[in-house]
Amino acid sequence: MSKTITPPPTTPISEISATVARLRTTFQTHRTRPIEWRKQQLRKLWWGLHDNESDIAAALWQDLRKSEHEALQSDGIWLKNAIIDALKDIDTWAKEVPVTVDLLSKASSPSIRKEPLGVVLIIGAYNYPFQLTIGPLLGAIAAGNCVVIKPSEISEASSAILTKIITESLDPDAFAVINGAIPETTTLLEQKFDKICYTGNGVVGRIVATAAAKHLTPTILELGGLNPVIITKNADVKLAARRVCWGKALNAGQVCLSPDYAIIPSSKELEFISTMTTTWKKFYPSGLQSSPDYPRIVNSRHFHRIKKLIESTSGEIRIGGNTDEAEKFIDLTVVKVNDENDALMKEEIFGPVLPYVVIDDLDEALEFVNRVSDTPLALYTFTTDKKEADYILGRTRSGGATVNDTIWHGASHKLAFGGVGESGMGNYRDKFGFDAFSHHRTTVRQAGGWFEAVLDARYPPYLPSKLAQYRMLLEKKPNFSRDGKARVSWFGWLLSLGGGDKKTVVVKYVATILGLVYLKNQLDARRR
Ligand code: NAD
Repeated sequence: MSKTITPPPTTPISEISATVARLRTTFQTHRTRPIEWRKQQLRKLWWGLHDNESDIAAALWQDLRKSEHEALQSDGIWLKNAIIDALKDIDTWAKEVPVTVDLLSKASSPSIRKEPLGVVLIIGAYNYPFQLTIGPLLGAIAAGNCVVIKPSEISEASSAILTKIITESLDPDAFAVINGAIPETTTLLEQKFDKICYTGNGVVGRIVATAAAKHLTPTILELGGLNPVIITKNADVKLAARRVCWGKALNAGQVCLSPDYAIIPSSKELEFISTMTTTWKKFYPSGLQSSPDYPRIVNSRHFHRIKKLIESTSGEIRIGGNTDEAEKFIDLTVVKVNDENDALMKEEIFGPVLPYVVIDDLDEALEFVNRVSDTPLALYTFTTDKKEADYILGRTRSGGATVNDTIWHGASHKLAFGGVGESGMGNYRDKFGFDAFSHHRTTVRQAGGWFEAVLDARYPPYLPSKLAQYRMLLEKKPNFSRDGKARVSWFGWLLSLGGGDKKTVVVKYVATILGLVYLKNQLDARRR
């Protein structure tokens, strides 16, 4: 891949507010509302991605030395498939949904309309420059919005190709790309948007949220975090090592879902390390540095940041540790650390380094995880015991989770993707993306004059008879007692027979038989 892609020109700051105003004017003409117009944009975008597939791969090679395989799997083909699925489902997503309500409101046909929000801003990050901008864009287009896209200035070649695809494929009055760094983004954030979707680190996430709050603009914040891998005594440790290897090497660890640290019981430690070493060799038979499949760190700032973290650890480097500044190469590195105070455990690494601690007791491991960060973006656990997996999931929080693998819950374009707490807010992809960029507009279409007789109960003067009528028609009875316990009717209880644990079922059956005997006796007594 010898082609050199020139970075896109920086958008003049003076043009930014005019661009946003132009898009708002377009939105106000209602051009983006017809579903067919939205579909056309999506279809054109599919072709734009398809026709520029080799440029997408070339750009990702230039920015990150990402292989064509990874580039197309996670950006090119991934996005094209997401578009095809969106086109299949958009009619269903956009349909007005009738809502079942009480008697008094029934005649007004209540429903939820899915309306576009208006003009939205999408700010992308450098590690997946296409997926993290076009991914949310699909939901925003499907929902009928105008969109400003701000790609990361760090992945310059990708920003150039992204700009080309967007400007050549989409309606220029409804979609615009703003290129630039902090000054341009700051000016953008001064504009009023109807939603902002930001992907990147939490420090800037807070800047974005603060700027958005000034306009009461809602945000989706897609941030990172310290993602744990909990390997339990019941894990298939060879499989765990292989799958952690893959997850850690992907994009040289520059993935928001990358495993950040592992917890391993002492009985599994040696096997884990030795399988990691052999797997490395199998994945990269010509050696890591000479392999065309292993990416580089995006720039020298990030290279030095990660190198410094490796140098600052007080742990023991068990695998790797080499770096090459000229190539921005960092070896896949595994480090045994003592506790969460190690330099490698203080922040998200966002590079190919995996610290691990040895902890034997599962509850202790879970306490450790919740101490390091109780809202990471991802949580991974390896165990062959389903109950143990549920136990772990029930005692932790995270944006998403994968049992017995890494990254996988974030791999499908159909599944909701987003963080919780420190790892962000909101989510998107597929229908979740459509909903994220839609306003759910509750609408009722009230019945005509003939309905006045029924509505009379709501009008003053408020006579006791009207309240009585209201109570009779609409007041609901609780199915719970004062102490908060559910109250089940005898009939409901009978219907639920068979449910519950063994003891409860036996008690229920005995009580039912006694009840039936009692009923029979009563009937017999009456007959006599
Ligand atoms: P980055 O440097 O590419 O920055 C992201 C965006 O923020 C860019 O568009 C940049 O122009 C903008 N930006 C930077 N400084 C700014 C400022 N002061 N004011 C306004 N905008 C500014 O990427 P990054 O932040 O280094 O990305 C890495 C982080 O992103 C990691 O924490 C990673 O976990 C997270 N991430 C999260 C997801 C997700 O979907 N949850 C995906 C990828 C990356």
